[in-house]
Amino acid sequence: MNTAVSRQAIVDGLRQIVGAERVVTDEEVLRRNSVDNFRKLESIFGVYTRPLPAAVVLAHSTQEVAEVLAYAERNGVNVVPRTGGTATEGGLETAVADSIVLDGSAMNEILSIDPYNMQAVCQCGVPLQELEDRARAQGLTTGHSPQSKPVAHMGGLVATRSIGQFSTLYGGIEDMVVGVEAVFPGGRVTRIKNVPRRAAGPDIRHVVIGNEGALCFITEVTVKLFPYFPDSNVFLGWRLKSMKRGFEVLREVMVNGFRPSVARLYDPPDAALHFSHFAEPDDCVLLFMAEGAPGIAKATADGIEAVGARHSELERVDGDLIAAWFGDLVWGPDKIAEENERIRRTRNVNRTTEVSADWSSINDIYESALQRILREIPDLTMVGGHSSHSYVNGTNMYFNYFYDVVDCEPEDEVVKYYLPIIGIICEETLRRGGSIVHHHGIGKARTPWVAEEYGSSYYILETLKRAFDPHGIMNRGTIIPG
Ligand SMILES: Cc1cc2nc3c(=O)[nH]c(=O)nc-3n(C[C@H](O)[C@H](O)[C@H](O)COP(=O)(O)OP(=O)(O)OC[C@H]3O[C@@H](n4cnc5c(N)ncnc54)[C@H](O)[C@@H]3O)c2cc1C
Repeated sequence: MNTAVSRQAIVDGLRQIVGAERVVTDEEVLRRNSVDNFRKLESIFGVYTRPLPAAVVLAHSTQEVAEVLAYAERNGVNVVPRTGGTATEGGLETAVADSIVLDGSAMNEILSIDPYNMQAVCQCGVPLQELEDRARAQGLTTGHSPQSKPVAHMGGLVATRSIGQFSTLYGGIEDMVVGVEAVFPGGRVTRIKNVPRRAAGPDIRHVVIGNEGALCFITEVTVKLFPYFPDSNVFLGWRLKSMKRGFEVLREVMVNGFRPSVARLYDPPDAALHFSHFAEPDDCVLLFMAEGAPGIAKATADGIEAVGARHSELERVDGDLIAAWFGDLVWGPDKIAEENERIRRTRNVNRTTEVSADWSSINDIYESALQRILREIPDLTMVGGHSSHSYVNGTNMYFNYFYDVVDCEPEDEVVKYYLPIIGIICEETLRRGGSIVHHHGIGKARTPWVAEEYGSSYYILETLKRAFDPHGIMNRGTIIPG
């Protein structure tokens, strides 16, 4: 049990705060809210093994969030914040029985779009797609385009330090967030104001950004806006035979100061999934998109072409083939449902794990993790990956793998396959000084490696947790092992 307070008392207490109709206790809803995509087979096959929450609370205001967090702290009840529900690493899992799932998806108002100061203010439950559509109607863009754009919400996107396909130009969410409003345990509401920059001590936005619901509940977000120039987009692509060479070309583009919005390198197995209409089975695919004001997009594309031309092993691909592929990248509810149905039918599961490292280490991480996965993991049907977010000093690697779930129950899939694969990738990354999480968050899945990830700076993380959540009521077991 969570606390000395009974499940019924928790439900009654919550009903007094938000009204009975917004405290959901339906057994099936509670089951679905006890897991996320980390244990996606549990929801696909309807077998749930995690402790059930006491209730899902649909908050409608910052005041309600504050009152729920005050109630939870007074009574020692674990709280799991939630908005879009697309988490992949167990951040939404209710690790403790009779937790409160605090759902902000009904706080879904876009409060302002300010084309003069180029920023938008919205509540935590605004789907990114909605904000982007509204911005584009005014000739603007958020620049944020994770594949989960149609389903993920602003609160969750900030809470996980998410990143989108155009990150090489616009950055990750941490580069876009101007200010936030958040509620800390005990119900303390705090606002970080919207300014272009300040040097008034540490950047406290970063206590909130990436907290994965383990420190506070984000209620409102202000993000930057950028001018949108879809007509000047230029797509470039090449085929090549070696990932090592591909990383070299990516590096050359980045260190020469070019800022394509998209810069991606696929290995042959992953390229075969996306580019079989033009790639040979042993081809890697390297692609870029240049965007921005017409002169800028053209200069960027010209610069990247010049880099490509210096490498005789690269074979040019028609830009239209890249553009066509690019149009179908995001995952809405239909595609997610289709994929879940495929898994239910075939018991063939697709998972991904993303890490980052400097240019000197990334190819070694890629090769050694891949070799070990192939050697140590049974029942694989595909393993490969791509780099999709590059920086002047390094890049990420996004491992993409499929396996058949053989001789094991759906609820054991995580232990038999997923965690051993994550373990290999984390070990090979840590050994070479990289980061075990590029953008999906630690959740609960990667907590076994979090102390090693931080090293001596783990002290800062633990101190933050103790300081802001002294009673340990925020999303127990997330980021910091339970
Ligand atoms: C098909 C698919 C594609 C994806 N593509 C990408 C991608 O391209 N890039 C990327 O970065 N990620 C991607 N993800 C992962 C996921 O979409 C992101 O992590 C996203 O940011 C989660 O947002 P959400 O609103 O769904 O949050 P949720 O799933 O509801 O929550 C995620 C985490 O944040 C916490 N949280 C949620 N809301 C709040 C809040 N208001 N205050 C405090 N904490 C909160 C939760 O407790 C949980 O730990 C993908 C996931 C799927 C399923």
